[in-house]
Amino acid sequence: MSGILYIVATPIGNLEDITLRAIRILKEVDIIAAEDTRHTLKLLNHLEITKPMISYHRHNEEIKTDELIHQLLEGKNIALVSDAGTPVISDPGEEIVKVALEQDIKVTPIPGPCALITALIASGIDAKEFAFLGFLPLNKKNRKEKLIQIEKQEITSILYEAPHKLMQTLEDLVDITKQRKIVLARELTKIHEECIYGTAEELLNKIKEPKGEYVIIIEKNEKTEIQEEKEMLSKLTFEEHYHYYEKIGLNKKEIIKQIAKDRNVNKNEIYQKFINKA
Ligand code: SAM
Repeated sequence: MSGILYIVATPIGNLEDITLRAIRILKEVDIIAAEDTRHTLKLLNHLEITKPMISYHRHNEEIKTDELIHQLLEGKNIALVSDAGTPVISDPGEEIVKVALEQDIKVTPIPGPCALITALIASGIDAKEFAFLGFLPLNKKNRKEKLIQIEKQEITSILYEAPHKLMQTLEDLVDITKQRKIVLARELTKIHEECIYGTAEELLNKIKEPKGEYVIIIEKNEKTEIQEEKEMLSKLTFEEHYHYYEKIGLNKKEIIKQIAKDRNVNKNEIYQKFINKA
């Protein structure tokens, strides 16, 4: 009979944030698959657990998935952990879960800390509905698409960000989020934990030297705001409408698609108007 693959959440800072069940599972399994074995060793030492470990990270995910699946099929129980928080969430794990399920191997989640939920519950921002977007893509086009998604999002948006990219991300958010409230939840569950509030522009002025890990929570775009934008756009000439999106950085194809959507007209009609545009 196959073993069980446990997806085990571990602390995002404070080592006390681990469940009794997670500790028991880490003690009971045959192998722990860890993103960074040295990092997980510190947690295991703290919990006084000695266990064989296999490294399982983004760069060896494919090869190690085969190896771990083989062990599971042999009847071994495996716990998958990441460096911090819940595996799979902006962390490795998705691949092995998929393959395990295809092979009828039981996958058991062991819930616990997750930075996005930890940040959201203390943010004071509407938590009824939210979209978690992970890290913003570095690729220009994909990043632009995500930013437009955030701009129009009528529910709370949540992002992860590394300290050295925080200022750039806030700069990108200034025009997109305007007066919407943003919460930067920093170093959660650690000594320097803090939440910093403001618009993107205010935050840019407040933060001098980003340090530690950040979750960015962005207030939703109120429907009225979208309606206001729609009204504003409907008053523009085609030419002005084109320049509006050009300024945001969309290319010709994207602009035409967007104008057609805004004005509820056929793309070809718009295309004919701008056929000679660079
Ligand atoms: N799997 C993790 C989880 O469950 O939240 C996320 C891993 S992802 C690679 C790392 C990102 O999570 C960091 O860049 C930061 O945005 C966020 N993060 C992790 N720990 C955090 C903490 N203690 N405080 C604030 N953000 C944190």
